[in-house]
Amino acid sequence: MTTATGDAIKMKVKQARLEESVGKRVLLQGWVRSRRDSKGGFSFIDLNDGTSIKGVQVIAEKALENYESEILKCGIGSSVEIIGDVVASPAKGQATEVKALSVKVYGYADPNEYPLQKKETSYEYLRSIAHLRPRTMTFGAVFRVRNEICRSIHNFFQNQGFIYVHTPIITASDCEGAGQMFKVSTLDLLNAPRKADNPAEIDFEQDFFGKPTNLTVSGQLEGECFATALHSIYTFGPTFRAENSNTTRHLAEFWMIEPEVAFCDLEGDMDLAESFLKTIFSDVMNNCADDMEFLNEKIDNTILSTLKGIVESDFERLTYTEAVSILEKSGEKFDFPVKWGIDLQTEHERYLTEKKFKKPVILTDYPAEIKAFYMKMNADGKTVRAMDVLVPKIGEIIGGSQREDNLEILERRMKDFHLNPEEYWWYLDLRRYGTVPHAGFGLGLERCVQFTTGMGNIRDVIPFPRTPKSADF
Ligand code: ATP
Ligand code: MN
Repeated sequence: MTTATGDAIKMKVKQARLEESVGKRVLLQGWVRSRRDSKGGFSFIDLNDGTSIKGVQVIAEKALENYESEILKCGIGSSVEIIGDVVASPAKGQATEVKALSVKVYGYADPNEYPLQKKETSYEYLRSIAHLRPRTMTFGAVFRVRNEICRSIHNFFQNQGFIYVHTPIITASDCEGAGQMFKVSTLDLLNAPRKADNPAEIDFEQDFFGKPTNLTVSGQLEGECFATALHSIYTFGPTFRAENSNTTRHLAEFWMIEPEVAFCDLEGDMDLAESFLKTIFSDVMNNCADDMEFLNEKIDNTILSTLKGIVESDFERLTYTEAVSILEKSGEKFDFPVKWGIDLQTEHERYLTEKKFKKPVILTDYPAEIKAFYMKMNADGKTVRAMDVLVPKIGEIIGGSQREDNLEILERRMKDFHLNPEEYWWYLDLRRYGTVPHAGFGLGLERCVQFTTGMGNIRDVIPFPRTPKSADF
């Protein structure tokens, strides 16, 4: 309860809640987006405190004691504190404005040096000043949307009783990423100890963990240990892939969400993935309406209609084999020719979602050779119970499968993949003792943010991107 007048005079508010304060005296803190001086003897300051895309129009009159000495020196990027009265704005473009009673300057930003001036700056350039780009309208919107997606993800699972599990970041098991892993070692690169009986090889027994270790490429195998105990779980953590693919959809460090559910088959897995994505998209549209409207106008004017369409209609579901035959008959010229057995490329995935079905597509039952060893073998002996969710522009956004729950078949599959079953003894134990059908998938957080915001490059939806030859800040 605010009883004392002092509270009413200096109530600190964030701009996102300003409309609730009409008629009140408030304290605002933020950064100057622009300043316009009127001949009538006052200035308009567009103030933004980062809490929403819509700035606050502040009116600072000449009569303020520091008007000439300080306020007129506040350019873009200066940080200020304003005490003023919130009034309904007579002008179009904003519901409220603030008449300043005092303006305190925290810090100036020299207009000759501050890199974020009004002129449009390219995303490439903004990556080189990634410490400042969150102050731009676009990045502010993207990172508020990213936050909303994370909140929605946790809510989606928590509301259904899923248990959040933290799987290790340093791991000795190579889930599926042979050759794509970052090694973790404390050995001296220039002077690594050699094996006594074979000097050509490094003696990892002398390394920190006593064996070779890597940064995780997926928390799935460890996640399965918890799903086969706690029923429904999800992981949400950093993931590392040293794939040297300089694309607009790959990062070396990204965040992945991996649910895993016991007593679940591929159908259940697809249902989960579909309702998961629909929940995220509708949460973002409901809770980030201003940011999404801004991004729809500025970045890609199809995102809102696309997301709305996705939430309202069913995903198309078909098998890999059916997809290949559609692609073969499409008459399209693809860079990579299509035939049964190939790993589908983004161009193929995009044809299916953008041209053929015009909505998200879930492809199932891929050839066993191109999918991971742990995916459940179908009765045909050729395909596995995999599913990829494909969306327009991005292609694959989710990859998942029902897992092989038969011990003998799983051991055979490991050998096919030149993996040593003895090293995976703990993973095989899940099948040895009380095995159950179970399934799960992985969603790349950044692919999801990229798709939702319409941003063209995945490097612009993670705070500090890590990609080949680039790990700044
Ligand atoms: P792709 O074929 O697109 O490289 P993948 O098949 O290697 O992906 P999975 O191993 O199935 O990917 O990983 C699950 C999800 O993680 C993917 O659907 C995607 O959303 C995301 N993902 C995979 N690799 C990356 C990456 N390098 N950067 C960002 N997200 C990624
Ligand atoms: Mn995949």
